[in-house]
Amino acid sequence: MRPSGQRTLVTGGAGFLGSHLCEALIRRGDQVLCVDNFHTGTRDTIAPLLEHPRFELLQHDVTVPLDVEVDRIFNLACPASPVHYQHDPVRTTRTCVLGAMNLLALAERRRARILQASTSEVYGDPEVHPQPEHYWGRVNPTGLRSCYNEGKRCAETLFFDYHRQYGLEIKVVRIFNTYGPRMYVDDGRVVSNFIIQALRGDPVTVYGDGSQTRSFCYVDDLIDGLLAAMDSPAAFTGPVNIGNPDELSMRGLAERVLRLSGSSSRSVHQPLPPDDPKVRRPDIALARKNLGWQPRVPLDEGLAKTIAYFRALLNA
Ligand code: NAD
Ligand code: UDP
Repeated sequence: MRPSGQRTLVTGGAGFLGSHLCEALIRRGDQVLCVDNFHTGTRDTIAPLLEHPRFELLQHDVTVPLDVEVDRIFNLACPASPVHYQHDPVRTTRTCVLGAMNLLALAERRRARILQASTSEVYGDPEVHPQPEHYWGRVNPTGLRSCYNEGKRCAETLFFDYHRQYGLEIKVVRIFNTYGPRMYVDDGRVVSNFIIQALRGDPVTVYGDGSQTRSFCYVDDLIDGLLAAMDSPAAFTGPVNIGNPDELSMRGLAERVLRLSGSSSRSVHQPLPPDDPKVRRPDIALARKNLGWQPRVPLDEGLAKTIAYFRALLNA
């Protein structure tokens, strides 16, 4: 691979999505600087990259200002699992808001293009379904999920104000539920929980009656979407939804995981967490039109790969 000459910063680069993104950027020929404070990420996720001549790791908290030479910035630093982001909610808001401010200031100083990993959570518990980008959402500002939802909404505001006020080149990508290899065993998100429970022969924990829906995107598709957004013409800022519109209930997901893993576990019901969105499905017309992007990996195929990953990890 010929070096691209591009120096790209990935914050949260040791996380689930960040590690896949760093790998994809290295494959493209970029010089990659991974910044992470290992709050949820680990060195294991990026271990294969550590010896690569175009990969650098900087242990740093994005709530503290940073000055490095970069051409492009992907801002992914933030815990994404509800279990993790609710563990220290004040810290989560600080990471979302101060992190965005510090990276935008860096982008402005370096005249770098910057992409924000935003989230479908900005739509809250939506009354519009599926969710298009022009829907403003229905978010509880004082609940348990608010640290993340409102933190990410404020970050979007900062991105657009930097764009309007300082002419900064921004990309805001609203990521919908993404799954795949390298999710953490203690992550607490539904796909990894169900797979690990199924493989261990433990009860599969469906919260509430399991009728709430989500739409799951395989990690490789998501990374392609992030790269397409970053490479899009300067005039395209987003926000743009990136996700897989194939929607299913959590009861349906439990059945799929049990079938694909060949597990004899049963599902049990546990209380639904507060403010848990009842439905979620991206409208991806904008991504299709402006980025020429759409997901390719069907749920069964992505789940089979993820199950194989966790099977190997748990047997190791
Ligand atoms: P993750 O928890 O696996 O990764 C987040 C990474 O950020 C970790 O490596 C963590 O150590 C690092 N981090 C956290 N706080 C930091 C700080 N203050 N300074 C430096 N590093 C810090 O989560 P993920 O699933 O890889 O998500 C990555 C990004 O994508 C997040 O911003 C998340 O909000 C967004 N996102 C993810 C999903 C999803 O389904 N995975 C959905 C919507 C949005
Ligand atoms: N969920 C579940 N069992 C679990 C973990 C989660 O039924 O063990 C449900 C959760 O209540 C939500 C959906 O699965 O309705 C997705 O949860 P996740 O934490 O993965 O992401 P969210 O989209 O809620 O941020």
